[in-house]
Amino acid sequence: MADPLATLTHPPVPKSKLRNWSATYNCAPSLFFAPVSNQEVALVLTEAAKRGKKVRAVGLHNSPGPVWHSDEWLVSMRNFKQARFEAGKPRHAILGAGLSLREANPILASHGLSLPTVGSLPDVTVGACFCGPDHGSSAFHPIVTASAKACTIVLPSGEIRRIAVGEDLFRAAGVGLGALGIVTEVEFECDEAFGLEFTMTRIRLEDYLDDNDSGKKLFELARSEEYVKLWYYPCPTWSPSSPNTVLWRAKRTPMPPPRKEHWSVPYTAKLMHILHGLAYFTTTYLFPALQPYLNWIMFWLLASSLPKTQTLRSYEAQTMDCGYAQLVDEWCAALPAPSSPPSVTSSSKSPASPGAAILRRLVAYLNSREGRSIGMHAPVELRFSLNRGEDFYLSPGAPYGRLLGREGGRDEENDLMLWIEPIIYRPLNLPTPARFYRFTHFLEDLLRSYPASRPHWTKAHFPTPERELLRMWDAERVEAFRRVRKEQAR
Ligand SMILES: Cc1cc2nc3c(=O)[nH]c(=O)nc-3n(C[C@H](O)[C@H](O)[C@H](O)COP(=O)(O)OP(=O)(O)OC[C@H]3O[C@@H](n4cnc5c(N)ncnc54)[C@H](O)[C@@H]3O)c2cc1C
Repeated sequence: MADPLATLTHPPVPKSKLRNWSATYNCAPSLFFAPVSNQEVALVLTEAAKRGKKVRAVGLHNSPGPVWHSDEWLVSMRNFKQARFEAGKPRHAILGAGLSLREANPILASHGLSLPTVGSLPDVTVGACFCGPDHGSSAFHPIVTASAKACTIVLPSGEIRRIAVGEDLFRAAGVGLGALGIVTEVEFECDEAFGLEFTMTRIRLEDYLDDNDSGKKLFELARSEEYVKLWYYPCPTWSPSSPNTVLWRAKRTPMPPPRKEHWSVPYTAKLMHILHGLAYFTTTYLFPALQPYLNWIMFWLLASSLPKTQTLRSYEAQTMDCGYAQLVDEWCAALPAPSSPPSVTSSSKSPASPGAAILRRLVAYLNSREGRSIGMHAPVELRFSLNRGEDFYLSPGAPYGRLLGREGGRDEENDLMLWIEPIIYRPLNLPTPARFYRFTHFLEDLLRSYPASRPHWTKAHFPTPERELLRMWDAERVEAFRRVRKEQAR
């Protein structure tokens, strides 16, 4: 009998090589598929079920990994690049799962639309953005995934389903890392297209952290403009009041024309990458003790030109050139609205603001003798998202009222998540020295020791044991996710 897979438009490729963005992970799936329709995705999934094969979707394989494995079948979404706009839904866009945000953002703009927030990396596919989670930085908007209102998913049985907000399956598939099925298109609710006027200034991070960890000053800083993020440079300073952090704040403006880059920009960027790479090579592999001083120089090279204001399209302002290969670990922690601190019961000795407490201890560690000896790279990126407006079962941004011991699991309107992302560069793609893994161990132990802190699923992190999963999301959510997944796998 003929092999049903032979009917696919593009025959599967055996052992094709796949490498992630930071070159920290390689894999060669046993078969690599590039279907062109929902029906072809369904065929791959049903054939895999018959042959006992595991299948996973892949976007631009930028995630740190190990998300994929060599004995699996991989399904690329590269042929799902359609964009549809329905007359009856003026602010909705239905985007193919294989479109990258680099491609999707200008398409949305040409229809007078913008996503309310986007992350720093434009090379993320719509499918990964939905299954991710992807987040930008705004205390007034939840993670990017929250803008998704419906999607088309092909289930392991081969059934093609359209699912939407309010359905259990949608709550499980969003931020579900593709564990429920393969998403082929996502319907987003957008805002009217807008620009951002952003201003960069210098501050001292410690001025926004208080000894009793109320989180009040940090919370107020996060809400001081619609979009706020911070880059903290662990480095020695002239005095206890000298700045060590760049504060990036942006407010909405009417949509400006697209950015026109001077011809020299790519060459200057290339030169900067080379200089940056050489400097980091020296401190990472030869003289780690010099790293805090290099951070100091990097900070002042940037800070001496501040304050600086610029207006760009929203997606141009929020995304950035991420430079060269990095090992990143990212977690988020609760930054509750200070007006309504969590009740502290005898069983939970939680500070009012776990996010602020974690950050204070992290800064203290980085400035300690032990922390300095690691030679942590700069910057440590700090971002915010609203802890309301999405309710995917396993989302890091899911409500945390119950985890903080609040009465009846009450969630507050303005609660935030603080995202903490140390960046460890990999100059010349050389292996990362062990001391940086000691640092990520320290960071994760610190985060895990507080309630309501959770890993970013598509960034590198150490495994989350069952016990911790149940604690971080609360057992009810995890059970609900598993129940829905089991129902679909039947
Ligand atoms: C330099 C850099 C900067 C970054 N900046 C940010 C940031 O600012 N904010 C942020 O939140 N993240 C950020 N990230 C993380 C990034 O958003 C994620 O790694 C994202 O998943 C990458 O997109 P991708 O298309 O390469 O996904 P992939 O790496 O290909 O896939 C990611 C996961 O999604 C699953 N998946 C992908 N498509 C589908 C689909 N159609 N159906 C079902 N499952 C699917 C895959 O199986 C995999 O588990 C950054 C990453 C890098 C490398």
